[in-house]
Amino acid sequence: MAKYWQQDIETASRDQIAAWQNERLVKTVQHVYQNVPYYREQMKKKGVLPGDIRSIEDLKKLPFTYKSDLRDTYPYGLFAVPMEEVVCLHASSGTTGKQVVAGYTAHDLEIWGDICARQLVAVGADKSDRVHVSYGYGLFTGGFGLHRGAERLGATAIPVSSGNTARQLTILQDFGSTVLCCTPSYAMYIAESLEEQGVPLSKISLKAGIFGAEPWTEEMRKRLEEKLGIKAYDIYGLTEIMGPGVAYECEAQKGMHVNEDHFIVEVIDPDTGEVLPDDTEGEIVFSCITKEAFPLLRYRTRDIGVITRKPCSCGRTFARMSKPRGRTDDMLIIRGVNVFPSQIETVLIREGHSPNYQIVVDRVNNLDTLEVRVEVTAEIFSDTVTNLTASEKKLSESLKSLLGVHAKVTFCAPGSIERSTGKAVRVIDKRKI
Ligand code: ADP
Ligand code: ZN
Repeated sequence: MAKYWQQDIETASRDQIAAWQNERLVKTVQHVYQNVPYYREQMKKKGVLPGDIRSIEDLKKLPFTYKSDLRDTYPYGLFAVPMEEVVCLHASSGTTGKQVVAGYTAHDLEIWGDICARQLVAVGADKSDRVHVSYGYGLFTGGFGLHRGAERLGATAIPVSSGNTARQLTILQDFGSTVLCCTPSYAMYIAESLEEQGVPLSKISLKAGIFGAEPWTEEMRKRLEEKLGIKAYDIYGLTEIMGPGVAYECEAQKGMHVNEDHFIVEVIDPDTGEVLPDDTEGEIVFSCITKEAFPLLRYRTRDIGVITRKPCSCGRTFARMSKPRGRTDDMLIIRGVNVFPSQIETVLIREGHSPNYQIVVDRVNNLDTLEVRVEVTAEIFSDTVTNLTASEKKLSESLKSLLGVHAKVTFCAPGSIERSTGKAVRVIDKRKI
């Protein structure tokens, strides 16, 4: 079984990768300067001309691109080719405001197929695999991205899309799906539904899961691997840059390889914009260097993570990014303390609780309050009030010691927290309502 989809590229020397990046960056900067008036203006404002960008060393001279730039130019203002060359549009799911529109040329789609095929091969898939895609199909990039990867690889794509969980279970069994692609929260919902329906693992043929599009923890990974009898891999991407496949996990499961032949990754201090050294946590920034239709430069993802260029045991030489902890805009500030929902998830699962939870933030008498609602089993839920209160208190103490801030814990009946078939809604911030 092949270990890589494009071995020469995925295991290229760091010098070779740098050479590709230098050449492609120069070309892309010329391309956007000539074809995107908005970028031309931004560069002029910063006093940079395309001739000033001769290698990746010069990247920091370029202005950042922010989500607000995409809103200001909505829908097509940053496209760098005429609409005749755009063969497909996608849009972000709009989790954090007005949606962003991305355009692709035929060549862009080929590259997208390749990078998703790299992910599939990295999880051990080949032509004989049946790839069950339960990411949403439509404007969201998830479904079509993995679908294109499966077709490109020559595997069998099963475009189930998200939702209709009963049907997902039937197809998993009847079609013999071997690789499941969806959000980790939806994978958990599918796993729970299999259990509820009494479907034993011997009735399904899954061997791997490709889960992404939202933050999830190592604890959640373990839980999913056990429940589904698979190896679970992380995939990262965003509409603005391409969709899923910007970075992909290998068998080592120690961070996701960034497809550096197509994207340059930087980590910056989100407050000052200063570029940080490898292995330091900060905001992840991407520049597209091969895209034709919608090539963003220095796009501020607002995702917080770490990049390393240390060698990986899988033999791939691309930089690796850590699981992003979350977005800067998901970060809750509770009485001055920064809290990421993923930290709460870590504690819940580590303490043996369910990954079905919701975080409610409010402000009472000018003081922020944090409540964690977590589902418990029917057995625990029907326990005596004294026992319940004691268990809630115990969890509250564990949360306090990790987060550094008090959280009220409320146990809820099984099934009472709404399940998501796409990206889970973990936080209800009443301060903003
Ligand atoms: P929206 O911005 O509307 O949610 P996207 O689908 O483009 O639309 O979302 C991309 C974002 O999803 C990323 O910027 C990141 O915050 C999140 N994301 C994607 N993959 C992962 C992953 N593997 N782990 C954590 N977060 C992820
Ligand atoms: Zn690796």
